Amino acid sequence: MILVVGGAGYIGSHINKLLNKSGYETLVFDNLVYGHKEAVKWGTLEIGDLADTKKLDEIFEKYEIEAVFHFAAYAYVGESVENPSKYYNNNVANTLHLLDAMVKHNVKYIVFSSTCATYGVPESMPITEDAEQKPINPYGQSKLMIEKILADYNKAYGINYCCLRYFNAAGADPEGEIGESHMPETHLIPLVLAAAAGDRENIKVFGSDYPTRDGSCIRDYIHVTDLADAHLRAMDYLKKGGESTFMNLGNCLGNSVFEVIETAKKVTGKNIPVELTQRRPGDPPMLVGSAQKAEKLLGWKPKYGDINLILEHAWKWYCNKEY
Ligand code: UDP
Repeated sequence: MILVVGGAGYIGSHINKLLNKSGYETLVFDNLVYGHKEAVKWGTLEIGDLADTKKLDEIFEKYEIEAVFHFAAYAYVGESVENPSKYYNNNVANTLHLLDAMVKHNVKYIVFSSTCATYGVPESMPITEDAEQKPINPYGQSKLMIEKILADYNKAYGINYCCLRYFNAAGADPEGEIGESHMPETHLIPLVLAAAAGDRENIKVFGSDYPTRDGSCIRDYIHVTDLADAHLRAMDYLKKGGESTFMNLGNCLGNSVFEVIETAKKVTGKNIPVELTQRRPGDPPMLVGSAQKAEKLLGWKPKYGDINLILEHAWKWYCNKEY
């Protein structure tokens, strides 16, 4: 049995699907604060919170868990600045409960959902894993803390881990069964599509005076199904005795906010009204990741690299979404 903590969320649900399609049995553990039970179409769902150590213990007793994927975290950067307590308690303290349950029940493998936000404002592009990690907000700090804790748990208790530092997860299941749905929604692509669908008045472009090719921010959008594939490979890598490590998952392709909007116009065939607004505090001009390490260690290469395909799948989901 594979435990998928946070498997009712956007990224976790795509890994849960892929695990089941690949023949694994899964147990999704989710408190459904931000996750959707409708997204858990495969495996078993146990509703619970990582703060509940008794429940965690019961789960590890009841099911024979061989590996853990951990996605359960709060991920609103702005909120993390305003309410760091919420972020450190949930993302750090509650993860400790999970790791301690693993130690107690002798579960040896964990694939951890980390982020490029641990790099802060990097000095050179594309970002490689040896870039200094200097997060600029509590969300990024909380993920970096877990990376460090995992290194210590590896040495002391023999927990084998792989930290996957995602760039901008985007798109949806190509079969349209699951997709992205946040409440509140703050991410660029779902908001652009909402504007295309007429569900929002417009899309606000946060800053058009950045030192980039068209003045808007550049991000590395990576298809969520490509992320899912990398997770499965990371688990196999650990099970085969691979050394505990961390790696970037990105496309090494950058797209600007204006490029995303233009592509969305083509894909949807709709007009998308744009409003130019102020920069969003804490947004670096450009974040593009090198995933050479993932390619070398996991044999992973993104298959849905193109922003067109990402938007096609996201639009297909948006038009038919169940949650
Ligand atoms: N962005 C924007 N308007 C929005 C939401 C996002 O211009 O309504 C920009 C944001 O400044 C960033 C990019 O789109 O440069 C991606 O933002 P998102 O919140 O999707 O992901 P992040 O990069 O913050 O993880």
